[in-house]
Amino acid sequence: MNITIVGTGYVGLVTGTTLAELGNSVYCVDIDEKKVEGMKNGIVPIYEPNLEEMFLRNIQAERLFFTTDLKKALDKSEVVYLALPTPPGEDGSADLSYVLRVAHDIGEMMTDYKVIVNKSTVPVGTADRVREVIASKTDIPFDVVSNPEFLREGFAVEDSMNPSRVVVGASSEKAKNIMATIYQPFTNTGIPIIFMDEKSSELTKYAANSFLAVKITFMNEIANYCEKVGADVDKVRLGMGSDDRIGHRFLFPGIGYGGSCFPKDVKALINSGKQDDFEFQILKATENVNSHQKVILVSEIENYFGGSIEGKTIAIWGLAFKANTDDIREASSLDNIRLLLEKGARIVAYDAVAENNVRKILGDKIQYAKSMYEALDGADALLIATEWSEFKNPNFELMAKRMNSKTIFDGRNMYPLDIPAQNGFYYKSIGRKTIV
Ligand code: NAD
Repeated sequence: MNITIVGTGYVGLVTGTTLAELGNSVYCVDIDEKKVEGMKNGIVPIYEPNLEEMFLRNIQAERLFFTTDLKKALDKSEVVYLALPTPPGEDGSADLSYVLRVAHDIGEMMTDYKVIVNKSTVPVGTADRVREVIASKTDIPFDVVSNPEFLREGFAVEDSMNPSRVVVGASSEKAKNIMATIYQPFTNTGIPIIFMDEKSSELTKYAANSFLAVKITFMNEIANYCEKVGADVDKVRLGMGSDDRIGHRFLFPGIGYGGSCFPKDVKALINSGKQDDFEFQILKATENVNSHQKVILVSEIENYFGGSIEGKTIAIWGLAFKANTDDIREASSLDNIRLLLEKGARIVAYDAVAENNVRKILGDKIQYAKSMYEALDGADALLIATEWSEFKNPNFELMAKRMNSKTIFDGRNMYPLDIPAQNGFYYKSIGRKTIV
């Protein structure tokens, strides 16, 4: 099948590459000329494990193309995926201007039947709005379907090639059949495709992300309570997770959720509720707890240094919002850095993958180290903000030699308590005993 993808970011590029890998001819459209030029020359604009190999293979096989020319791509395709940004507006509601603008352009440019597949995360009722905008521009028949994306950054290729399920909201039989054909390689291997109406499909995405945000936040509160009463969250987590109604995943406490999806989707669902005169109390509480959790270690660091961190050097390991991605949108590292800088600390950060993205925002307000150990030179404390694998088994002797003081604040619970203890470190993690 010939497919156009409009918006070649994390979702669009991975979706486009996956659909090409499944044998389709895919035309990826983006307004960012530099990005498109780079992709034409084989440069992958984002970091995602295993993406580059699949991307290059499909360019080579002439199944994956890049252009800034929407009309040209549309003329070649019957199916048009929208993978456009839906950032939070000032009041937290999803900004649909990118999606509706492209819907308008499609309406003006299309010359034959199209299925418009919305992969962006959008509020309930957006399929209807897209339909109205296109219909106001053309009499040519078309269908709009909702096909939310559930990929996880860091595992995007794996998730796209082997999704747990495909959700499709469609009311037209013709569009349903086309979607079933596209995803036939998945259904063939037992991956379910769940058809429903567009509104239920749109809400499924928000409900899934909000539930995960609640699950993380619930566990963070349990972790904070563990510290109050001397319980160990690792034990509690294992005890809870063994119940298969609960499961072990998403029970790891830490310095809050970030990223491009959970914060924005929780906000957008609260806001959608508000517009329908419905109050999502649990989501409001989740947001509050999470914003506090993200910087919970800053007050611990302050207390450790007797109330002031003016002039202290804090090393930060990890800047990405989670491991295996260069994405720093709403990353907890940034909240911590801003607050630590405000309080007069000097920051030396290390992240092999996300550094460049942080440089674009913070410039030389902080220093950047070339290695995890270099970041520790003369540091008064280390704050671990991302669970990158390279931090999992460090050389504690070397760390001790390079640091001013053997002090770790671990926002990702990277180590069993006995390891920093044996190496003589002060070690503060989340929901567990502090090693002094
Ligand atoms: P992104 O910002 O990485 O990519 C969006 C791309 O769209 C950019 O390359 C931008 O240049 C391009 N663009 C903007 N306007 C355009 C236009 N008029 N024509 C063509 N291209 C245009 O965004 P993303 O992270 O891929 O997210 C896209 C959507 O998918 C959002 O709704 C998001 O909530 C949802 N989503 C994201 C993830 C994720 O992990 N990133 C997961 C599931 C769903």
